[in-house]
Order: sequence, then structure tokens, then C-alpha cells
Amino acid sequence: MAVSLPLHDAHLHLQDPRLEGSLATLLDDLPALGIRSVVTNGTHVGDWPAVAALASSHRWIIPSFGLHPWWVSQRPRDWAERLEQALLAHPLAAVGEVGLDRWILTAPAARLPGPPAPLTDQAEVLQTQLALAARLDRPVTLHGLRVWPELLALLREVPRLPRGFLVHAYSGPETLVPALLDLGAYFSYNAALALRPGAAASGIFAHLPEDRILVETDAPAMPLPRDRQQFTLPADGHGDVNHPGNLRVAYAALAAERGTDLPALAATVAANHARLFGVVR
Ligand SMILES: [Zn+2]
Repeated sequence: MAVSLPLHDAHLHLQDPRLEGSLATLLDDLPALGIRSVVTNGTHVGDWPAVAALASSHRWIIPSFGLHPWWVSQRPRDWAERLEQALLAHPLAAVGEVGLDRWILTAPAARLPGPPAPLTDQAEVLQTQLALAARLDRPVTLHGLRVWPELLALLREVPRLPRGFLVHAYSGPETLVPALLDLGAYFSYNAALALRPGAAASGIFAHLPEDRILVETDAPAMPLPRDRQQFTLPADGHGDVNHPGNLRVAYAALAAERGTDLPALAATVAANHARLFGVVR
């Protein structure tokens, strides 16, 4: 891939402690790989200051602030006020990563940052964040695990999000895609899902409308299969740590899946990314 192709990562977590030891190098290397902007998603009150600091010192880092469902049970009483303050202090910031997660209700405790919150609590927290996004006219990034029918129902109940929203790392069901598109959804392609053993060669991304496609790594999460990793970072106690430079692998895989060439795909994604998240100057 030509290094000059402009690439945009719609969803990752540069502030994640797992990247701490590599961060200084990554901040130099990612722009040199053609990565023009990334949306770095906060997940709880405790990591919002790190997201804000990264965005303040690097114009290509778009901040996003949100309370992720995995952190709902540990939220401080004033979390919503602090979220609004963070969003007001960063006029280009998005709301995310937010959503619903049924998987955590039965997940091993060691995989989670704390006790799982029931879906009713998760939904209440999500509705507060969606209302704030609508009021402040911000894009939203949604996380959903084993819960998309309920998430779609919730999106239909709340005021429509004027800026639209990103459905991150979506792997189905495909039948919900038209309804999500009607509500203003964009979908970000994650190569860890597309390249996992047993994945269909042609998934939902082969058929999505061109103006709703984005690309993401979710780094340091969602590492690619070992033989597809173009860039690596030292593994930690939980396994492989996804290097955000693997965004290039995702672009190439998506181009193959859609039967398009990389420069055309890069131009399409750049336009979509700017429409949803704004233009980085
Ligand atoms: Zn994420």
C-alpha cells in the first residue's frame, strides 16, 4: 500500500494503559504510516483526562468521551455532569464508547474491570448519554454485544441523533442493518472480525451503501490473527495487543471484500469520516 494513502481510524483507545509503554513511538509512527486521524474513545470517568490530553497535544486525535457498559457499575454519582463538562471543553469531541452489553452478564470476572451492571442500568446510562449527544449535536459511537435487537429498540425510542452514529465492530445480525441505516448509522469495518477463522468471505460490508462505511482497529483490543498482523506490540497478560498500524490491513481486507481499489476506498472512507466526525485541520 502506498504510504501516502490517507487513512482514518474511526475507533480505537490510544489512552488505554496497555499502550502506555509504546505510546510515544506510536504518536510518531502512526502519522508516518498515512494515518490522518483517529477517534480515541474514553470508556469511564477515569480515562477521560488522558483522552483530552492526547487530543489537546495532537490535532489528528479526535477525542470521544463516554461511559462504556463495562464501567457502568462503577460510575461516580456526578458522571453525567463530568461528561457534559468534557464535551463542552472539546467542541469536536464525540460521545463514545457507549452502548449495551449482554455478554458481560455471564463473562468471567477476570475479563471485566468490575461487576457487570444489569441491562436496565446500562440502558438508563445509555439514554442519558444519547440525550446529551442529541442536545450538543455530537456523533455517537455504539458498542453492542449480543444485544442489537434491544439496542435498535432503544434507538427508536429516543430522539433521533442529528449527527448520526457509528456502529462499531458490528458482526450482525444482518437483518437489522437496514433499520440501523434508516436511523443514521455508519458501520466501521474491523478486520479482526472479518479475518477470524470461519468468518464469511463476504460479510455485511460487501453490501453496505458506500456513504456509510468506516474502518477501525479498536486498538489495543481486537488483535488480528497472528499471520495477518502487519505490526505487533509486546503481548500482555491478556494476550496480543493490537497495534493501531494494522489499520492498513483492515483497509486492504475491506477493499478486497467490496471489490474496489484502495485509493477509491480511502477517498470514500475519508469523506465519510469527515462527515461523521468532522474535519481535522
Ligand atoms: Zn472500543
